[in-house]
Amino acid sequence: PSSHAELIIVGTGMAGIGLARALRRQGDTRSLLLVSADSGDDYSKPLLSTGFAKRLPPERLAQRNAAELETTLNARVIAHTRVGQLDVDNRSLRLEDGHTLDYDRLVLATGAKPHVPMAIPDSLKARCFTINDLDDYRRFHRALGSMPARVAVIGAGLVGCEFANDLHAGGHAVTVIAPDTTPLSRLLPDPLGRALGEAFLDAGIRLALGRTLNTMALNDDDSVTLTLDNEDSLNADIILMATGLAPRTALAEAAGLDVSTSGIQVDRQLRTSHPDIDALGDVACVDGVNAMYVQPLQASAQALATTLAGTPTPVRFGAWPVIVKTPLLPVVAYPPLNPPERWRIEGEGGDMTAIAEDRDGRLIGFALTGGCVRRKVELSRAAPALLG
Ligand code: FAD
Repeated sequence: PSSHAELIIVGTGMAGIGLARALRRQGDTRSLLLVSADSGDDYSKPLLSTGFAKRLPPERLAQRNAAELETTLNARVIAHTRVGQLDVDNRSLRLEDGHTLDYDRLVLATGAKPHVPMAIPDSLKARCFTINDLDDYRRFHRALGSMPARVAVIGAGLVGCEFANDLHAGGHAVTVIAPDTTPLSRLLPDPLGRALGEAFLDAGIRLALGRTLNTMALNDDDSVTLTLDNEDSLNADIILMATGLAPRTALAEAAGLDVSTSGIQVDRQLRTSHPDIDALGDVACVDGVNAMYVQPLQASAQALATTLAGTPTPVRFGAWPVIVKTPLLPVVAYPPLNPPERWRIEGEGGDMTAIAEDRDGRLIGFALTGGCVRRKVELSRAAPALLG
């Protein structure tokens, strides 16, 4: 069995739905179909790492379900169905349930998938989680239950730090384990990372930084013993892996599109190496940049909707800093694209400003913590655009 739509979008994350919404807002009336491996719920992913502090159950995080999305977008939504294959010559998609979908134009918004650096033994699968969509969040929420739990968060990047702060605020006992010696090492120079680490420690979050996880073993009482590379060990009820994300490029790559580890390569009009196919969001590397944040994907959705509606429009990314949701110590960061010549760091305690400079003393990035986050607007104005 097969069906046809003028435009098919693979993915119902903020990129796929954002594009569909932008197109309809522009008055575009073509037939539209969205396919998603997940539930097709319309939700804001950044809220996933704020739900425990607010005691929000997963159902409160979805703005609308797939059926409501069909009505608001005047589109068909196929949920819980993975696209297994893309045939660019016949403009068709093969779904894993055996159906075929034909398109005139295709947009890939397949996002990024959690990268887990170790094999999880079957006996531990019910204790180890990644959270990258609402379905994952539901599973984690259910496993965590309503009692305070001991949670080991593996990874101290944005996702690991936000969940550590949020789970702690939700009453759980949190330990962060990561090979980095300071939290948020890709966003913050060491002194600011240390300030965040101090804020976590002061609040009672335990840190095992500069450490890697060697082994995990299930105990008779269903808890898990984690052993680190220095032979230290700790017990946890549940493990959250926040060990990075990799663009989901497999579908595009198998179809022969130009991809790299940074994502599906697209030009500033979001066009892939195939003229009928565009890509945006976490999966897309736009003219060499894959930011993996909301603002770039929103700008991409706007630009691509305008292009699809007939006015070719290149996308532009401004100097948009990342706002890290760690209320224990607020963090704003606009990391430089290339390693800076030097970081100029001022401030004390938790209130710090770091300015990344190039060889000529020009500001090419910045990082702010505590009370200094109020300098966000001023420094963003002085910083070069992400994609000018
Ligand atoms: P995704 O949301 O990953 O969507 C991908 C879609 O593709 C899914 O529907 C999936 O099911 C579907 N899909 C994939 N492969 C297939 C297939 N083969 N067949 C069918 N469907 C498929 N950014 C910010 O700017 N600010 C924040 O505060 C912030 N907080 C965050 C907090 C957390 C916990 C996380 C994980 C991320 C956060 N981000 C934040 C990043 C931001 O959420 C992402 O950049 C954004 O949501 C990516 O959207 P997307 O649509 O590109 O990808």
